[in-house]
Amino acid sequence: MQLRLAILNIAVPILMLLAMGFIPQQDTPAPAYLIIGLLIFTVGRAFLLLLQQTIFSVIPVILFVVPEEWAFGFDRNAPFVIEAVLIYLAVVNLQWGQRPWFHHIHWVNNTLLLAIILLGVAPFDFSESVLAYERTLVTWGGGLCVLLALAFSIYWQRLGRWAAFWSLLGVWAYGLEWGHGDYALLWVALATLFSLTIDSYAMAFIDELTGIPGRRAMEFKLKTIGGGYLLAMADVDHFKKFNDNHGHQVGDDVLKMVARVLSKTAKSNVYRYGGEEFVLVFAKSDSEDVYRYLETTRKALEDYELYPRSRKREKDKRGTGSERKPLHITSSFGLARQRGSEPYHSVVSKADKALYKAKEKGRNRIELAK
Ligand code: GH3
Ligand code: MG
Ligand code: MG
Repeated sequence: MQLRLAILNIAVPILMLLAMGFIPQQDTPAPAYLIIGLLIFTVGRAFLLLLQQTIFSVIPVILFVVPEEWAFGFDRNAPFVIEAVLIYLAVVNLQWGQRPWFHHIHWVNNTLLLAIILLGVAPFDFSESVLAYERTLVTWGGGLCVLLALAFSIYWQRLGRWAAFWSLLGVWAYGLEWGHGDYALLWVALATLFSLTIDSYAMAFIDELTGIPGRRAMEFKLKTIGGGYLLAMADVDHFKKFNDNHGHQVGDDVLKMVARVLSKTAKSNVYRYGGEEFVLVFAKSDSEDVYRYLETTRKALEDYELYPRSRKREKDKRGTGSERKPLHITSSFGLARQRGSEPYHSVVSKADKALYKAKEKGRNRIELAK
């Protein structure tokens, strides 16, 4: 799920940017007010999603679009402005996590921003021999900035981090005169908004810990799936005790493992309902088939050997006598079928009652709702 979103998040903007270079250059550029409006909207959205890098990465692009007469004569095409922006954007992209607004890292950002403004407002008298290297500097220096940011992208994790990268790529494309300059800036706004939208989708529908869809996604599914589906509620047995014995960190690893096993084993849509409870939805299927699937899944969970990461040090001490033992969990299931015009919350409640029965009867089993 997250992988598909990540591919979409990267492929669509890149394809849009590539396409731009092949579209014949237009006589009428994109109107400045439209681009500025979109960029301000983008900054606002990044602010709401708490993505500092994106805010800082979009700000200089706004500076690029504002007409000279409003911008105290800021000239986006003055010597070394693009290079300064590319360096600034690379620095912003390499920052990790959210910082207090007065953190020294933001002073670095603001100083670089000031340097960009100075270069644009009062261009220095560069000698011809220096200016001759400008183009090469944009091509190779810009390319290096882009590569540097990409090299660290594996640590970004959150989809929304890509939103900060599009400004860097867009300004580089602008510097290389890839397509029309104004459209390159419009692309920055659209690509960034696209990434922010995908990120907010993930935040709303995907459970952060396990990476599978969460309760909101389940509700949407159940409201739109039609009648006759089967719904199983799964709950880890004695999980509170497990947490107490092994710590919440190991508990979290168990939840990730359960989500993985449920998604792999049962042919269904799997959701994290909350805490250590998961819901499996089988559209129009045979009860016996589903029961068999659940039985395989229950067994797979029971047999799973979990070696907690926090015990890694013990593994290194192998041979000194401390034997590493895998941890085991079991889980119980309650299964119910939707009938007639029964609303989804009633089906969930039936499955929950069946689950309760499974717990009463000794756990690590599946019970059917009446
Ligand atoms: P039972 O077999 O009856 O289900 O017993 P239980 O202990 O699993 O049941 P209970 O619902 O009382 O406990 C659920 C526990 O799950 C409580 C809480 O400590 C733990 N839990 C809930 N969400 C999380 C989470 O995101 N991470 C971790 N590590 N633990 C969680
Ligand atoms: Mg439980
Ligand atoms: Mg529970």
